[in-house]
Amino acid sequence: MTESINPTTGKPNKSYSSHTKIEIDDKVDQTYNAWDSWRQTSFAERSVMMRNAGRALRNRKDELANLMAIEMGKPLKGGVAEIEKCADACSFYADNAKRFLRDEPVKTDAGKSYISYQPLGVILAVMPWNFPFWQVFRFLAPCLMAGNCGILKHASNVPGCALAIEDIIKKAGFPPFVFQTLLIDSKSVNAVIENSKISAVTLTGSVEAGKKIAEKAGSVLKKTVLELGGSDAYIVLEDADLDLAAETCVNSRLINSGQSCIAAKRFIVMEKVGKKFIELFKDKMSAKVVGDPLNDKTDVGPLARLDLRDELHKQVEGSIQKGAICILGGKIEPGTHAFYPPTILTNVKKGMPAYDEELFGPVASIILAMNENEAINIANDTVFGLGAAIFSRDIVKAEEIAAKRLQAGSCFVNSLVKSDPRLPFGGIKNSGYGRELAAFGIREFVNIKTVYVK
Ligand code: NAP
Repeated sequence: MTESINPTTGKPNKSYSSHTKIEIDDKVDQTYNAWDSWRQTSFAERSVMMRNAGRALRNRKDELANLMAIEMGKPLKGGVAEIEKCADACSFYADNAKRFLRDEPVKTDAGKSYISYQPLGVILAVMPWNFPFWQVFRFLAPCLMAGNCGILKHASNVPGCALAIEDIIKKAGFPPFVFQTLLIDSKSVNAVIENSKISAVTLTGSVEAGKKIAEKAGSVLKKTVLELGGSDAYIVLEDADLDLAAETCVNSRLINSGQSCIAAKRFIVMEKVGKKFIELFKDKMSAKVVGDPLNDKTDVGPLARLDLRDELHKQVEGSIQKGAICILGGKIEPGTHAFYPPTILTNVKKGMPAYDEELFGPVASIILAMNENEAINIANDTVFGLGAAIFSRDIVKAEEIAAKRLQAGSCFVNSLVKSDPRLPFGGIKNSGYGRELAAFGIREFVNIKTVYVK
């Protein structure tokens, strides 16, 4: 049994029966059997269905944003933007899959030799609750356009979103079973990975889940793509436009109520401008509207689950005990369910949870640095490597640091880190491996085949 609980009220929304072992095997069989004819469809045929899915998403954006709000607490305006982004990804891969996967001739001693990108089979996607539609569509649009089929195991707290995605794909005209949702808990995932009809696995989630899934998939020699956590550092240099930097940093820290892998988490500020930056940051963070995610004025909703709020609070208290100074928030108000207030910690140092760990909620860790080199060293002093940003009016210098010195999968200058279907997305170190989006994403789950004709 899977139960979805509204994190704003703590009340249950709805219960869903979990799939049994027999149902899981049947569904994997159905999807595997659907693959044989799906792989033979043309890019043009797939594009028509993918565009239908994009249209359905746009038509249902208010309903789907509402569903996210009640299942995981996302404020409505963020929910609508997420659905629009999913629709954009559908159009992007409908427009570009053929070009990304066309044969590539290679001159050899053969009469003809080339690289051909062929679908792999059924891909299992294990997905998180924080962007319940976007995380799935950024896997699903390239997966289906490449001629693969998909099986989704979504996070247990968003079963309604998981079923809504299945419904959208079905109604978009895709053949039966090319994509299906399994309502199962994480303990049942190993058996699905072991099923010989699953070709590969992609996970977006925590480092712990990534290690477990990679271990299981490795034991049966199946490829994995892992999109894991992040502790993105935003460096603010002395010559930065401080107002722009503070505004962007606050927005990035509070995106999805602080629960984004690429949210800014550590702010590394030159000591000379530290006081001014902290003042601006605090003013802008305090101005954000915290409240009911169903109110369209709300900027910050509750965290997705009570246990996640408690874990975050433990990290904040642990950091304060070790010398961090809390200048905003940091206290749980009684009767506020899964809400955690926007919080600022200063004097953050190595050895504190706020420095060493990922804080998955609206908590900013501010660290002062004496010079650029020290700031870059602090930014790279993390087990993660998902995103990073740097703020400076000296674009040449900032670009050089972003491109060559910051150790992360995406490095932005004077902007918050964001994903975009046109650009590859993924991490290094404990943030995972493999890439989603762009041409790299669609080529992760294909057989890069050499064809040689004498
Ligand atoms: P999570 O606990 O790892 O859950 C993610 C998914 O993995 C869920 O479907 C979960 O199922 C499943 N799962 C958990 N443990 C598993 C195991 N041992 N075996 C098989 N499946 C398992 O992560 P989360 O708390 O939902 O999401 C937050 C984390 O995801 C953060 O660290 C965040 O940074 C990361 N994230 C990364 C990206 C990225 O693109 N790099 C994007 C978004 C989020 P249940 O729900 O049933 O437990």
